Amino acid sequence: MPENKTPGPKTIIEKKKKYLIPCVYHFYKNPPHIIRGQGLYLYDSQGRQYMDFYSGVSVNALGHCHPEITDAICRQVKTLQHTTTIYLTEPIVNLAEQVAQILPGKLCRTFFCCSGSEANEGAALLATLYTGRSEFLALQNGLHGRTKLGMSLTGLSFWRTDPNPVGGITHIPAPTCYRCPFGQSYGQCQFQCIQAAEQAILTSTSGKPAAMFVEPIQGNGGIQVPPAEYYPKLRQVLDKYQMLLIADEVQTGFGRTGGMFAMDHWDVIPDIITGGKALGGGTPVGFFSTTEEIAQCYTRPGASTFGGNPVTATAALAFLNVLQRDGLVNRSQKLGRQLLKSLQTVLGKHPFVADIRGKGLMVGVELMASKTIDAPTMTDTVLENMKDSGFLLGKTGPRRNVLTFMPPLIVEEQQIHQVVNELGTVLDVIQ
Ligand code: PMP
Repeated sequence: MPENKTPGPKTIIEKKKKYLIPCVYHFYKNPPHIIRGQGLYLYDSQGRQYMDFYSGVSVNALGHCHPEITDAICRQVKTLQHTTTIYLTEPIVNLAEQVAQILPGKLCRTFFCCSGSEANEGAALLATLYTGRSEFLALQNGLHGRTKLGMSLTGLSFWRTDPNPVGGITHIPAPTCYRCPFGQSYGQCQFQCIQAAEQAILTSTSGKPAAMFVEPIQGNGGIQVPPAEYYPKLRQVLDKYQMLLIADEVQTGFGRTGGMFAMDHWDVIPDIITGGKALGGGTPVGFFSTTEEIAQCYTRPGASTFGGNPVTATAALAFLNVLQRDGLVNRSQKLGRQLLKSLQTVLGKHPFVADIRGKGLMVGVELMASKTIDAPTMTDTVLENMKDSGFLLGKTGPRRNVLTFMPPLIVEEQQIHQVVNELGTVLDVIQ
């Protein structure tokens, strides 16, 4: 449809209000009606261009409508779209083979589903089947899904809508050194965040939880990168109590943080990895992967009607091919360093900037209140003004005051400077 014939934001909002469940919220006071995407850019119904620094929440790692993914999808759609796993098709097994080649350690077997939430549900089931236990530990400020169990594993009240969450889940303080939950500072602390894991096992569980869920770097929790010692030490505690480690790499997986998986940064190999988002190249995907030994306990029938369907699996194969061929994981590391450096140079001393942190192309800028505006309102204002200037950023954190940068991994250095300079300008006019 030509751009001037599209209905525009007002009509979209009216229909949304009338027909969607009201929980489906959107960003911005004046949201654009997005109608097209290409590479790093999105376009609205007024023909305005936006540089996308949020990638549909860490999904469009190769940018929008990457020709190789789009061609692969179109070819597959014209050939075979859907059968379910009760019939044999090739893309699902080829994808499982490709994923096995990039998984760390002995992880080699995968179950495909359709979302990150479904992946975490499956991982919890698998951990229960393997250990014969059913309690879980998770981190405060973590996000693991919007289904009943996913929400119950989530440690952010913003996303815990259910007044009667699933029991048997204990949340422990996260390793967030900026604003340490124990009031300590890194280098001088005794890793109370690790002690808290053991204390929780001993005091708030039967002593035998099945597993602990972690986001290696918390995304919705405000881009929290734990200190280098955290996961190796946590692994020791979990091993002591024969618990599994489940790394939720839904947001961090496939190069986002400058490693294929974020857990690779700490040389800690989880027992189960869950993922989704970027792998599907824009098509809905979820998966959990594990070792041969753990996989062997899940032999009763399992299925996800659309899981590993030919279209998604083909898109994912095209995505993995480009990701590796074009060295985008290393690129994420390199460009991520430039993004951090540029933010620090331009905004490091800005009075409203509390903290700048991240790894690879997963970066957060925590804002603080001015004399006249609280930090969450300021974040909303900055987000809105950046959008009006043609730049889309994200917003995360338990206080919703962390500007979030997760651009496609194909972002150019000059585009990084553009967004950072504009952010400096937008922040400078706020009182
Ligand atoms: N885990 C993490 C770390 C996530 O960021 C998300 C989504 N933001 C989920 C799980 C849930 O994924 P989905 O929305 O695909 O169910």
